[in-house]
Amino acid sequence: MKVPFEESGGGRPQPSSEAARPVGRAMRRGARGRCPACGAGRLFEGYLAVRPVCRVCGTELHHHRADDLPPYLTILVVGHVVVSGLLLTERLLAPAMWIEAAIWLPLTLFLSLALLRPIKGAVVGLQWALRLHGFGRTAAAPSPSPSPLLPPKAA
Ligand SMILES: [Zn+2]
Repeated sequence: MKVPFEESGGGRPQPSSEAARPVGRAMRRGARGRCPACGAGRLFEGYLAVRPVCRVCGTELHHHRADDLPPYLTILVVGHVVVSGLLLTERLLAPAMWIEAAIWLPLTLFLSLALLRPIKGAVVGLQWALRLHGFGRTAAAPSPSPSPLLPPKAA
């Protein structure tokens, strides 16, 4: 028996006219703080607030659900850089504690603030490219239909 497979995996047919959304390009655009769809409009208003709609192409951006992933990834990256650097300097140079604190505390703060926004932009770009959380909806299909595998609800 042949089982129909849909690329979206969302259980609803995708119009063939929908353009491809390359993941890498969308994530790079998001990391630069640009709209993942057009690459020209600004993604953020302020430091981390995502604009509801791109002012250049009109793409709805409010569907994103970045939630805790950007801070998690930021902590992961910064933690690896700072902890490995701290251990390496301690092992090789063994400087005074105040010197360690003067180097690693500001570096932790700087790296966290510098990486959080591009990482959040990349996450929003990833969600847009994968058509997650409503990013794939078109005006013709405003809401996903129930799964064809489920029996119809009793009236
Ligand atoms: Zn745009």
